[in-house]
Amino acid sequence: MALLEAQHLHLAYDRREVVHDLSLSLPEGRITIIVGANGSGKSTLLRGMSRLLTPRSGGVLLDGRALHSLRGKELARRLGLLPQTPIAPDGVTVRELVTRGRYPHQGLFPQWSAEDESAVAEALAATRTDALQDRLLEELSGGQRQRVWIAMALAQQTEVLLLDEPTTYLDVTHQLEVLDVVRDLNRERGITVGIVLHDLNLAARYADHLVAVHRGEIHSQGAPAEVITEQMAHEVFALDAHIAPDPVTGTPMVLPLGRDRTDAPHRHEEDPVSTTPETAAATTAVEEDRTLVPALEHSSMLAFELTIAARRSLGPNLVRFTFASPDLEHFGTGSHPLDLRVKLIIPGPQPSADHFAEVRPGALLDPTTHAEWYRTWLQIDPADRGWMRTYTVREQRAAGHPGNVSEHPEIDIDVVLHLDPVEVPGQGVAARWARDAQVGDTISLLGPNRHLVGPEYGGIEFRPGTARTVLLVGDETALPAVGSILEALPASLSGHALLEVPEAADAQQLLTRSGVQVTWLPREGRPHGELLDAAVRELMSENAQAFRDAEADAPAAAQREELEDVDVDATILWETTTGHGTFYAWLAGEAGVIKALRRHLVSELGLDRKQVSFMGYWRQGRPEN
Ligand SMILES: Cc1cc2nc3c(=O)[nH]c(=O)nc-3n(C[C@H](O)[C@H](O)[C@H](O)COP(=O)(O)OP(=O)(O)OC[C@H]3O[C@@H](n4cnc5c(N)ncnc54)[C@H](O)[C@@H]3O)c2cc1C
Repeated sequence: MALLEAQHLHLAYDRREVVHDLSLSLPEGRITIIVGANGSGKSTLLRGMSRLLTPRSGGVLLDGRALHSLRGKELARRLGLLPQTPIAPDGVTVRELVTRGRYPHQGLFPQWSAEDESAVAEALAATRTDALQDRLLEELSGGQRQRVWIAMALAQQTEVLLLDEPTTYLDVTHQLEVLDVVRDLNRERGITVGIVLHDLNLAARYADHLVAVHRGEIHSQGAPAEVITEQMAHEVFALDAHIAPDPVTGTPMVLPLGRDRTDAPHRHEEDPVSTTPETAAATTAVEEDRTLVPALEHSSMLAFELTIAARRSLGPNLVRFTFASPDLEHFGTGSHPLDLRVKLIIPGPQPSADHFAEVRPGALLDPTTHAEWYRTWLQIDPADRGWMRTYTVREQRAAGHPGNVSEHPEIDIDVVLHLDPVEVPGQGVAARWARDAQVGDTISLLGPNRHLVGPEYGGIEFRPGTARTVLLVGDETALPAVGSILEALPASLSGHALLEVPEAADAQQLLTRSGVQVTWLPREGRPHGELLDAAVRELMSENAQAFRDAEADAPAAAQREELEDVDVDATILWETTTGHGTFYAWLAGEAGVIKALRRHLVSELGLDRKQVSFMGYWRQGRPEN
């Protein structure tokens, strides 16, 4: 058992102090849960207590010794931390990941000992993940995955375990499952546990010691029944609530009556990359006094300043950029990017300032004006602000990945070089930038803040649901997305990927464990989409049997639907769905081509629209914006 203590802790991002003179002890062998509103500093506090953030002043003691005096491995043997959205390397199995928990116990020349073996076996058993040990992490449900991460932290065999929002993005069954595992561990092994949680009722159920944090200070602490009061709900969460005993556990239960809107205005951030309700809720700005708050804790979208670490031609018409930045540790959704879209900001010729200064990972933003940032940006002269263009993350790698060319986390983006012989200002800017950009050049990218968004993030559209057969259809702009999706697909899925590219030499080696067969369709001067259209029609007629099975899964599909027309010159063709049934199709590329395929699949073949996602990635003759 160990005691973790913060003493007069001051934690800050840049000049903005987030935690002020805070002293706190996590009682030995007990579960402490820290609650607070968005931006209250609760996650920052946990980062400070685990040495992820260096205090401005004050300190943290582990059994009376200053945390900063402990060497890296020594600390990792004594204190485990599970961050909010940890990223696993691609293709890692459950056992491999849990095994990593033993690294702090190994010497310079690692040798796997019987002790390591039993620590891993115990961690797998305690989290009930032993039956999953040979499965790939990406194949598991969110709750199972979270239990595996906890198993990894457990294999570390630390006396203190800190968990930052371990239940975010899980449904209620899995939330309980994860917290039950943590409580069992605490009860059986006496581990000292500190958890940051946003759900007050779950916090009341699982905490021995509850700490309510408000504006970087402790508002109240003690047993849940002492801390959870109507007054605390009002003062800490700006929430008018009635407190009643939880009928299941007898712990206090918070029944919200409604928000106190005069003190805490709620605005939803405008996010051109994704605007799902989940991300909007996660980014609600809460500060009553309208002071600046850390972008990392408030903005679901961040602006990353990236440096080109490598540039490689993939064929006559596509170039791969490897971008690196230490800031990328804050990027992503915490799981495989699949077809994750991001925005590249192609620089204008006369930039006057950093127009994304507020949403840089280390920055502070004004929550009262933040919601307007996109409109404000659009009003700036393009020559100054530049142009926003949509691209796909072809691959994301954490720092230290063997495939990296730099010491930092990296992402790859593949860009089509569609170069018009006549240059029109403001058009084709991304393709021209890609033609000229060299290693060492920098560019800004807007993408998800992995501390605030999860795998359900709206910037990912490939959601096959229960499908066992998939159809992936794309032109060269969708090739990066299809390549990334194929790498993530499990062996249990099969189907076809039809890819139209400008020339035969643009075909690439795509890796997949799945049974999906890839067909390359080199255009070689034919009209865009002609080959793709023919190939989809042929494939669908040859596979009439599989298609009929799909119909049986989705009875509504039996009636052919009259499609409403989408004017692809005036709007974006964007109809996406989470698959249901055994078949799921994902089609992306030039909007006119995708529109014709939509008509064929839905109107002519009667395919259920709930099984198909149609995405116009670009429109012939029209710049992106
Ligand atoms: C979700 C999503 C993901 C995408 N992922 C990728 C990706 O990973 N890689 C990638 O290269 N593109 C990708 N695209 C497509 C890319 O955003 C567009 O091609 C974009 O228009 C390129 O910007 P630009 O400045 O070069 O051309 P714009 O200024 O937007 O357009 C100028 C002119 O070029 C034409 N044009 C645009 N793109 C092409 C093209 N590919 N071939 C021929 N003519 C074109 C337009 O019709 C217009 O007439 C994606 C689009 C979306 C919506």
